[in-house]
This record gives sequence, structure tokens and C-alpha cells, in this order.
Amino acid sequence: MFRRLRTKLTVLYAGLFGVALILISLAVYGAVESNAERVTRQELAASGTVFDRLWSLRSQQLEDGAALLSRDFGFRSAVATHDMATIESALENLRQRFGIDLAFIVGVDGQVATSDGRPLGEAGRTVAEALQSEDAASGVLMVHGRPYQAISAPILSPTLTGWVVFAARLDEREMGSLEKLSAIPLEAEVLNRRGGGWVSADGRPNAGDTAQVSRFVERSLARGGPGVLDTSAGPAIALAKPLKAMGPGAPAVLLLRYPLARALAPYRALTGVILATGLLGLALSIVGSWALARTVTRPISALDDAARRLQRGESVAVAVETRDEIARLAESFNAMAAEIGARERRITHLAMHDADTELPNRLALERRLVDLASGGADGVFVAAVGVDRYAHLRAAIGHEQWSALLREVGARLQRRMPGATIARLSSDMLGLAFQALDRGEARAVATGLLAAFDEPVRLARATVDVALTIGLAEQDATGPGPASPVERANVAVEQARAARQPVGLFDADAYGDPASNLSLMSEMIEGLAAGQLSLHHQPKHDIRRGRVTGVEALVRWRHPTRGFLPPDRFIGLAEQTGHIRALTEWVLHEAIEHQAAMRLAGREVDMSVNISGRLLGDPDFADVALAMAARAEGRVCFEITETAVVENPDLALALIDRFSKARIGISIDDYGTGLSSLAYLKQIPAHELKIDKAFVVGVSEAQRDALLVRSTIDLAHSLGLKVTAEGVETDTAYALLAGMGCDLAQGYLIARPMPLKELLTFLHEDEVEARRYG
Ligand code: C2E
Ligand code: CA
Ligand code: CA
Repeated sequence: MFRRLRTKLTVLYAGLFGVALILISLAVYGAVESNAERVTRQELAASGTVFDRLWSLRSQQLEDGAALLSRDFGFRSAVATHDMATIESALENLRQRFGIDLAFIVGVDGQVATSDGRPLGEAGRTVAEALQSEDAASGVLMVHGRPYQAISAPILSPTLTGWVVFAARLDEREMGSLEKLSAIPLEAEVLNRRGGGWVSADGRPNAGDTAQVSRFVERSLARGGPGVLDTSAGPAIALAKPLKAMGPGAPAVLLLRYPLARALAPYRALTGVILATGLLGLALSIVGSWALARTVTRPISALDDAARRLQRGESVAVAVETRDEIARLAESFNAMAAEIGARERRITHLAMHDADTELPNRLALERRLVDLASGGADGVFVAAVGVDRYAHLRAAIGHEQWSALLREVGARLQRRMPGATIARLSSDMLGLAFQALDRGEARAVATGLLAAFDEPVRLARATVDVALTIGLAEQDATGPGPASPVERANVAVEQARAARQPVGLFDADAYGDPASNLSLMSEMIEGLAAGQLSLHHQPKHDIRRGRVTGVEALVRWRHPTRGFLPPDRFIGLAEQTGHIRALTEWVLHEAIEHQAAMRLAGREVDMSVNISGRLLGDPDFADVALAMAARAEGRVCFEITETAVVENPDLALALIDRFSKARIGISIDDYGTGLSSLAYLKQIPAHELKIDKAFVVGVSEAQRDALLVRSTIDLAHSLGLKVTAEGVETDTAYALLAGMGCDLAQGYLIARPMPLKELLTFLHEDEVEARRYG
């Protein structure tokens, strides 16, 4: 869901903090609420007691007044004589003195007389009835629809003549004073049962829903003690106290309530603070988590970034700032990256230098030429410097001294041309590039170089007079001849020697008739049809299994008039002229036929075919090749020269991908002569790497070649590639390669390329031998 580690950590931390904060806030809020409720319940219970106290105080007051009056002689006699005027004035007098709301008398006959003469109506009858059955009746009395607290006292003169009744209103004013007396601002109200429900006794609209209030009162009366009353006005803590009714009138209760919202009001600020603190905490934890996640993931991101860059082939190092596991990881990574970098540099160096003489090699010179061309340099000439009488001299002084001689030749050339790249082009040829205004000046420069060899070269065990022939070629000459100026300079050396000149410029006319090259190609196409071309196979020997498991198909051409033509003579030409496709299709077809023939003879071998890099720019060829390979039952492998691939990377990679998806093995041929970087090799879905014979031949003699081969094998294995060494000529080379973990060996030691018939015999013997030793 979250692709970045940083986001994940932030969400995780902030989420955890957030949940914790929410839980704490809920707990605090719950505690506050339940505490408020508890306090309210206590207060309500206390207010109930206060009310009881008020009730009895009031009763006492009323009783005192009533008793005083009932004992007053004048009053008693006025009652006895029905002196209404005296009765009324005495009642009024006392009512005012005691601050009583209502005073009246009830005669034994049920007659009611009030202080103000107003009739009492229904209430009078209720009281009269009550007094008939109870002598000192008291309780809540409803007068004109309003509740009163009433008490009575008998009038004895000396026999019972009636009762004095004093009543105090239980209305808003009264409730107000009760509300004032209580510690909390509660609402008090007297309720009356009417029509099955509890309603406000004084006719005020009930605060809240009648049904809810009634249900609460019933419950509270049955159970006693405060409870929660939930009405549309919001929840409240409430307490219903039964009030004694005077007479058989409707029962009454006192309802005390305290809205929870008001109980919680003092805590609201606190809850607000808790909420604000919670939100602030949450915000802080998000910011903190983000910052924390950033510090935690920054080194990981740096590593990730570095790993990607390493994959792209860049050289990288991660800064190590801490001392923890990640720092150790970064150190290991740096060590690994440095190791890979060093290895690549070593390989590049080895690939760019000649092992014998330490001089740059042909590839290095070609690179230099490319650099000069891209730098826009004009008048660039290549000089190939050939040491004359190579065969004779080498035989005379031996391999080691020959290398020393070449080194000295290189050194003298370098002294003449301090900035130049002096490269070894072949066993007896050095080369260099320089700039000159024209051919004349170039000749002069070359002649000047020769002057450096007037003195003989002194070697450890010999002194040699060195004679040189220098061939010159212009870098950007057009026209016939080899495309590469180095190649042209090489040819120029031969041309100069033929002309017995110490210095010669490449002569295109003398090089060859382009028409004859073209005719060679048409002859090749004819030869294909006429059966002049054939396939030879060179066995590939599996070192671990000790037997041959595959072959490489190599084309041979026996020309009717020109004789045997080595592939190097016509493959390059076929590539340049576009004839390579016809040739390769023929080879592929033939190779697959041969593979089938071998299968019939009971020999299952992998068949490797050389595919020119040129053809990797030709999707039509890919279609044909894929169709052919699909029909073949055996395993087919394409050997591709890495230099060719580097030239057209995109299309070539796409076609290679198609081959690989069709289960055609891909082999990187002539490894070591090109300049593949590790990152580049990784993109090719190859299964095999063939180390060029130039390195394999020297593996037992030159330490540098051994180093290159060993590190190439390690590198290839780490990329999951098998390694084939070509050009294995000696037992020593074979043993060394086996020790380095090389997978396959190909070379004259195993067998030379041979026709199919011989191959079948060879494979038979190989199997017998493998059985004997395996
Ligand atoms: P390659 O693909 O590198 O083929 C290996 C060459 O090394 C072969 O030369 C082989 O005879 C030679 N060789 C094998 N073992 C040894 C050894 O122990 N020591 C030495 N010094 N050389 C050994 P060949 O047959 O002359 O082929 C030369 C090149 O021509 C091949 O090099 C390949 O690039 C090209 N070639 C040959 N046949 C075909 C083909 O059918 N199609 C294409 N496109 N190229 C081909
Ligand atoms: Ca090959
Ligand atoms: Ca090769």
C-alpha cells in the first residue's frame, strides 16, 4: 500500500501514538463523566434531605400557627358561635403573622371558612373528608390546581368543633428557595399523578417529556435513590421523593433533577484542554514520526540509491555517518562497490593493454582515434610501426627478450612523441596516432621516428639492430580498403615492405580491386549452391563432466580456383556487403541438419552457431532464424560477438531478447576484446560467456591474462553465466582453467574443427574415454 519505507514508518508510529492518545482521552473523559455523575448523585441525595428538613420546618411552623390559633379562646368561641367576621379576621391575622399562604377552618359539619372568605371548592371537600378519618391530617393539598403543604389542628371548645388548616404554597417560589439551598443548581418540581401519568402539580408545562418523566418517577419510587432521567432536553440525574398527600387526593412527588450537561459544564474546559492536548500530541507525533522515519530511512534510501547507480554501472560510495548496523551495511556495500569498481578497472586495464609489453593494445589505439575524431581533430594519421625480420629475430632472442625489445621500441617512439598513445597492434607491430598538415608532413614525422633507431637496442643478453617499416593511413580517408585506419596502416606496412620503402602511405589502388571483392561475394553465393562451402565442428568439452557436450559450427570454403579460404577472408566482407545473412541462414540450416543427423546416430550435442553482430540489426533475419530454431529439436545456441552488440544496443537487445524467449541459448563471444561493462552485460539474457582465445593462450604464461581470466570467470558466475574458454591448447592451460572454475573448454587440445563424419567418430571415442575415467 505504501511503497516507501518512510511513509510506512510514519503511518505506523503516528497511528500507534494516535490510538494511544485516543484511548487516554476516552479514559479521562469517561472518568470525568462518571465522577461528575457520582458527585451529582450525592448532591441530589443531600438535596433530598435538605428538602425533608425544609418540609418538616415548614410543617412545624404551620403546626405552631395552627396550634396557637386553635387554643385561642376568642377564636374558639367565635367558631362555637359561628361568628364568621371574628373567625375570618383571626385567620387573616395569623396568616399574615406567620407568612402563611392559606388558612381556613373546617367545621365538624364539613363547613369550610377561609381567611378571605373565598370558597375552596374541591380542596375544601377533600380536607373535610380527610379530617373525618384522620384527626391531624397533613400533606400535599391541591387548591385551585396548585400544590400546597398543609397541616391541620383540631379546635376543642372543649368538644371538637372543627379544624384549623394552614397551608403554604409549594410553588415556583418555594422550589426556588429549595434550589437555592442546595449545593448544586438543581431543578425542583412537585408532580401530581393525573390521568395515569406524572405531571407538574402547579400546571406548569412539564420540563421534559411526560411519558419519560412518568416512567422515571414510577421506577424511582419503586427503587428509591437517584437515577438517570433521559428526556428530549438531554440526560439528567434525578431523584423522585414521594410526598404525603392530604386526604384521598392525588398522590404527589417531589422531582429533583440536575441536567448532566450542567454537571459536566465545569469539566468542559478540562475536556477541551484534554482534546486540544490530544490533537497537539497527535500533530507532534505525526511530525515526530516523520522526522524519525526520515532519520531511520535516510541511510537506507542512500543505500538503495547507490545500489541503483551501481547497477547502472556508475562508481558509487555511500557516506557512513553512524556506527550502527546500517553503517556496517553501508561499509560492506562500499567495500563491495569498490571491489566491483576495482575489478572493472582491472578488467578494463587488462582489456586495454598488452600483457607482454605493458603497452596499450590495439583497442586502446582505436579508442584514442575515436576520441580524436569526436574531438574534431583534423589531419589525424595512424602509423603502424613494423619490426622487420620478426620470425628471424624472435627465433634468435626468444619470447621474453622479444617482449623487452618491443618495450624498448615503444619507449623510443614515446620519447619522440611524448603525448601519443603507443600501442601494440600484433606480435611485430606497434601503432600510434598523430596529427599532420598533409601527407608530406606525415611522411616527415614517420621518417623522424626512424631516426630514433640509429642506435642498436641493448637487451639483457643481446644487442639488436632494429629495422622498422612504417605504414601510414589517414583517419578519415574514403574509398576502397579496410574501414579501420589501423587496418589500413597495417596493410600500408606490407605495401611499403613490398616496395622496399621504410615509410609508405596506404595505397588503395594497390590494395585490391573492389570489383574482385564483389565477385568474391557473388562467388560465395554460387559456392553455397554448388556445395563448395561446408561446416566443420569444434567440440566444446564440459570440464566438470569430463566429456564433450556441444560443438561450435565453423564455416569452411574450398574455392575451386583460389583454394581453401579461411573464414576471416570472407566473413568480414560478407558483413560489409550484406551477404552475411544468406551465409548465416545457410550455416544455421546446415548446423541444425547436422545436429539431427548426430541425434540419429545417438549423439545429443548442443549446437553453437556464430551470429554476426550485423544481423542483430535485422528483424527479418530474426524471424527466419526463430522459425528454423523452432523446427530443430535440439538445443541451439547463438554466439554473438560483444563488440557488435555494443554498436546497436537497443535493437540488438530486443532481438536477443526474442531469441532468448524462444529458448535459444545466447553466448557472448570473444569476451575481453570488447569493452562490456558489468552493467551492460547484465542486460543481455545470455547463458554463456566465451573468453577470447587471445587471453586463454596466455593464461599459463602471463600473470595478467590469468588474472583477467580468473576475474572474468568469477564475474560471469556471479551473473549466472557459464564460462567457455576458447583456444585451450595445452594441458597446463586446461588445468589452470579447471582450477579457476571454468565450465567448458574449447581448443586444439580437445580437438580442431572437423567435418561431421570425423566428429561422430570423435564423439564415440570421447564417450568411451569419459566412461573409462568418469
Ligand atoms: P570464433 O568464433 O572465435 O571461432 C573460433 C576460432 O578459433 C575458429 O577459427 C577456430 O578454428 C579457432 N580455434 C579453435 N581452437 C583454437 C585453438 O586452440 N587455438 C587457436 N589459435 N585457434 C583456435 P576459424 O574457424 O578460422 O574462424 C574464425 C572466425 O570466423 C570465428 O571466430 C568466427 O568469428 C568466424 N566464423 C566462422 N564461421 C562462421 C559462421 O558460420 N558465421 C559467422 N558469422 N562467423 C563465422
Ligand atoms: Ca564463435
Ligand atoms: Ca571466439
